[in-house]
Amino acid sequence: MQYPGADYEVVIAGGGPAGTSAAIHLAQQNVRVLLVEQKVFPRHKLCGEFISPECTQHFERLGVAGEMNAASPALLNQTIFYSRHGRSVQVPSQWFGSGGAMGLSRAMMDQNLMQRAKQVGVDVIENATVSGVLQSDNLVCGVRMKIDGVELQRTALLTIDATGRKRILTRRLSTGSSSRAKWIAFKAHLTNTQVAPGVCEIYSYPGGYGGLSTIERGLSNLCFIVSAKHVRRFHSDTETVLRKTVLENRRAAKTLAGSMVQSDWLSVALESFGRQRPVPTAGLLAIGDSAAFIDPLTGSGMLMALESGELAARTFVRYRNKLGRSSSLTDLSREYTQNYGSLFDRRLRTSGLLRRLAFNPQLAEAAILLTGASDRLRSRLARATRPNNSFSKVQ
Ligand SMILES: Cc1cc2nc3c(=O)[nH]c(=O)nc-3n(C[C@H](O)[C@H](O)[C@H](O)COP(=O)(O)OP(=O)(O)OC[C@H]3O[C@@H](n4cnc5c(N)ncnc54)[C@H](O)[C@@H]3O)c2cc1C
Repeated sequence: MQYPGADYEVVIAGGGPAGTSAAIHLAQQNVRVLLVEQKVFPRHKLCGEFISPECTQHFERLGVAGEMNAASPALLNQTIFYSRHGRSVQVPSQWFGSGGAMGLSRAMMDQNLMQRAKQVGVDVIENATVSGVLQSDNLVCGVRMKIDGVELQRTALLTIDATGRKRILTRRLSTGSSSRAKWIAFKAHLTNTQVAPGVCEIYSYPGGYGGLSTIERGLSNLCFIVSAKHVRRFHSDTETVLRKTVLENRRAAKTLAGSMVQSDWLSVALESFGRQRPVPTAGLLAIGDSAAFIDPLTGSGMLMALESGELAARTFVRYRNKLGRSSSLTDLSREYTQNYGSLFDRRLRTSGLLRRLAFNPQLAEAAILLTGASDRLRSRLARATRPNNSFSKVQ
C-alpha cells in the first residue's frame, strides 16, 4: 500500500477503548497506524467500570476476549435502580445480550486493549501529549505532540480524535472557549461493601446519581456524579460530598456502611452530555466520547467507544485506495457521518430523557414506580439505549 508523503495512513490521538478499537481494527487490515497516548498504561481511570454485555462481541473481534476473562471480572447479571427512599426497579443484563455484563477495572481493560494494539503492529507512543493538528490546504493531515518537552510532528492521510470528552484536536481547531463544569464525578475502589453479588446498583439522590458494583479481586467500584453547585456547597471535600449526597439514598447508606476506601479518589469535571460533530473538519474524524458523551447511567459509553472505533476503521478501509483525491475524503466524511447518526442518534436521545429523570429525585421516584409496573416498558426503554442490531447493516 502506498501513502506517499505521509508518515502513517492513520494517526489516532488517545488510547482509551475508542482509540485502541480503531487502531486494532485498522492494523488487522494491515493499515499503518500510529496511536499516541498521554498516559503510561496501566493507569486508573474514572468510570463506573460496568462493561455492557454487547462489548464481549467486540472483544472477540479485537482479539482480547481471552485476556478480559483471564482478568477474572465480576459477572453482573442485573442493574437495580434505587430511588432515594429505597424504591427499586431491575434491568436484567440479558436484555442487552447473553453472558451478562462484566465488572472490570479500566486499568485492566484498557491495558489489555493497548497490549493487543502493540501485538497487531500499531506503533504506540505513550507518555506523549498531542497538542494540536497539522493542516495543509484546509485539510487536517496529522498531529503535533510533546514528549518530555520536545515537540514532534507526524503526518497521516486521516487523523482521529479519540481523546475522550476533552476533544483535544477538535477544540484546537475552534476558537470557542470551553464551558464551565456543571457536574463533578468521583470514583474510588472499596472493600467491605454490602452490594448484592452480581448486581450493579444505581442510586438517585439530590444533585446527581451514582453506581456501585463489584470488579475483579473482590473490590467494589463506587462512581458518582454530583452537581458542581453541591460540590462547592460542601467545599469540594469528597467525604462530605459523599455523605451529604450519595448517602442520602437509603440503599446506598446501607451498602456503603462499613466499607473502606482502597484507592485514591479520582474526580473529573463534566461540562455537557450528548452529541458533537463526528467529522469536525476535513481529514479529522471523532470517535468515542470525542464524538458523543452518552449518559453514564446507561452503562454504554465504552460500548459506543468500541463501536465508533470500529466504524471509523471500516470506513477508512473502504476508502483507503481512493484517498489522495479530495473528493474521496469528502465521501468518506459523509459516509462516516451518516452511519454514525444511524447507529447512535436514537440512543443519545433516549439517554438524554433518562438523564433528566435521574437528576431529579422526585421524577426518578415516579419513573421507578411507573416502569416497575411493566417489564415491557422497562425493557423497551433499556433497549433504546443500545444498538438495534443495525451495526453490521450500516457497514
Ligand atoms: C462518571 C462516569 C461513569 C461512567 N461509567 C461508565 C460505565 O459504567 N460503563 C460504560 O460503558 N461507560 C461509562 N462511562 C463512559 C466511559 O468512561 C466513556 O464513554 C469511555 O471511556 C470513552 O472512551 P474513549 O476512548 O472515547 O475516551 P477515554 O476513555 O476518555 O480515553 C481517552 C484517552 O485519551 C488520552 N488523552 C487525552 N488527552 C490526550 C492528549 N492530549 N494526547 C494524547 N492522549 C490523550 C487519555 O489519557 C485517555 O487514555 C462513564 C463516564 C463517566 C464520566
